Amino acid sequence: MNTDLSSLKPEKLWKHFSAILTIPHGSGNEKALASHILNLAKKWNLETLQDKVGNVVVRKPASPGKEKAPGVVLQAHLDMVCEKNSDVQHDFLKDPIQAYIEGDWVKARGTTLGADNGIGVAACLAVLEDKSLLHGPLECLFTVDEETGLTGAFKLKKDILKGKLLLNLDSEDEGTFTIGCAGGADSEINLLLERKRKKAKNCLLIKITGLRGGHSGLDINLGRGNALKSLARLLFRASAETRFEIISFNGGSKRNAIPREAWAVVAVEKDEERSLKNQLRKEFQALKFEYRVTEPDLTLDLRPIAESEFPLTVESQTRLINLILSLPHGVISMHPEIAGLVETSTNLAIVNTEGKQARIICSSRSSVMSALEAVRLVIRAVCQLAGVRVVQPEGYPAWTPNLKAELLQKMIEIYKNLFQKEPEVKAVHAGLECGIIGEKYPGMDMISFGPTIRNPHSPDERVQIGSVERFWNFLLETLIRLS
Ligand SMILES: [Zn+2]
Repeated sequence: MNTDLSSLKPEKLWKHFSAILTIPHGSGNEKALASHILNLAKKWNLETLQDKVGNVVVRKPASPGKEKAPGVVLQAHLDMVCEKNSDVQHDFLKDPIQAYIEGDWVKARGTTLGADNGIGVAACLAVLEDKSLLHGPLECLFTVDEETGLTGAFKLKKDILKGKLLLNLDSEDEGTFTIGCAGGADSEINLLLERKRKKAKNCLLIKITGLRGGHSGLDINLGRGNALKSLARLLFRASAETRFEIISFNGGSKRNAIPREAWAVVAVEKDEERSLKNQLRKEFQALKFEYRVTEPDLTLDLRPIAESEFPLTVESQTRLINLILSLPHGVISMHPEIAGLVETSTNLAIVNTEGKQARIICSSRSSVMSALEAVRLVIRAVCQLAGVRVVQPEGYPAWTPNLKAELLQKMIEIYKNLFQKEPEVKAVHAGLECGIIGEKYPGMDMISFGPTIRNPHSPDERVQIGSVERFWNFLLETLIRLS
């Protein structure tokens, strides 16, 4: 097993990456890596500062004669995701990452590698160290806790950065520029439930499982089912033919995940049970056919269950089911210019009934903030019709893609000259640090790019060696051309 990364090119970048591998830096544990960077910068006589949350900024003066060039910010996040295979002994607070070379890839032995975003950090350090490079005034911004909460970006002060051009080095496909991301905001709905005074004798558990779920932004356009919607539809349909009383309705677990499972407990008279089951199964067959391609494992489970809670009144039951059915879910609109990009979507994420309350969470996204608010308006209107309370806390900002941006046009030219091919330009339907930083620095022209990394956030994470060299050459050429 070849563990010698010092043979790889560009040498300086890999030297810094090798050092980073020896310093534990999982999310929330970035102190040692931040100190490492501060120490190096001091050794190189560069101006540094660290804010209260731990973000680090290092400034490097322009090359002689380039002082008037526009300031450029290079940005990478300090933290990595700590995941390991169950058969691997590894303490992410103490042990160095064991990296090795396999063909054109660098991987780690049974753990995440931290190429996300260690290669970006190493590239910044290699730029800061090298006195021979040509560039205008430079700032490197190293943020904390990108992976679990975007904390560093959220807490970044509005008056730290001087540059107006930001190159974020946290992308995972060499040859692709990311120029936008979605903002997000939730809606929290509270429905008061009234219950009957009489306990039910004969109860049935109705469970929908086997759905694929996935990320509520990145996977929302894949036509997958929503377990909560499916279950509500079954119950709505059955209620036209049979009498039953809902006791509870639950499903979904995370705001940012498409709900995979949902279950309801209902009370039904013995002589109505058969009819109820038939109705549920009939509607389920229709659903199963509709989802025959995207949800092959969709399953309906019906079984008797003992239940001590009182059933909902007819009115509460109707309101709950109608509300779940009416709330929007899925893709609302696609981006008019960037092929395949979802512009606006919403995820009916969680339903939870307990005692006298049903809590429903919807999580919406858009790369256009007014469109995001428009979805929340729809949710508010549905809630108004249903006569229920909804709270809509402030969300996080979008980075609206601008295909005409000056920096993008320039970098496309630079890329084409260097590699004789067009880069791909895309945006993502999820939150990124650039969205948050951009809101604090209006007018900041930003692009995100990086080397090719596969399976980030998993023990199969690997970075392609050849792509690191291309990424580096492109970064240097960009700094020269922007100066
Ligand atoms: Zn990252």
